[in-house]
Amino acid sequence: MKDCIFCKIISGEINTAFLYEDEICVAFKDKNPKAKTHLLILPKKHIASVAVMNEGDEQTIGHLVKCAKEIAENLNLPGYKLQINVGRDGGQEVFHIHIHLLSNYG
Ligand code: AMP
Ligand code: ZN
Repeated sequence: MKDCIFCKIISGEINTAFLYEDEICVAFKDKNPKAKTHLLILPKKHIASVAVMNEGDEQTIGHLVKCAKEIAENLNLPGYKLQINVGRDGGQEVFHIHIHLLSNYG
């Protein structure tokens, strides 16, 4: 998607180190961390928001949650929060769906 900063990160147009990547998603560090560990996990497919999910996207979102769990385990995080902001009034700034993985550990 043109003009989407996260699509540019996924395509490599904006150079960003991935902590995790598979055929469906990538994970990288948030550039403005709000916790000791603050990662973003997002699909390679451009889905703007939970508010505009289509039929079938729940599988993709479920995969993101599974990857968040595995990343947290690999980082030995004893506890963490997963957050999805939905819509401008929900605090969403980047309209390419993503899960924040936040932990005071790590
Ligand atoms: P949200 O408010 O849920 O849309 O979250 C967007 C997040 O993306 C914010 O926490 C930003 O700090 C983060 N962010 C924006 N641009 C980048 C970037 N180029 N690399 C890493 N994180 C970014
Ligand atoms: Zn995008």
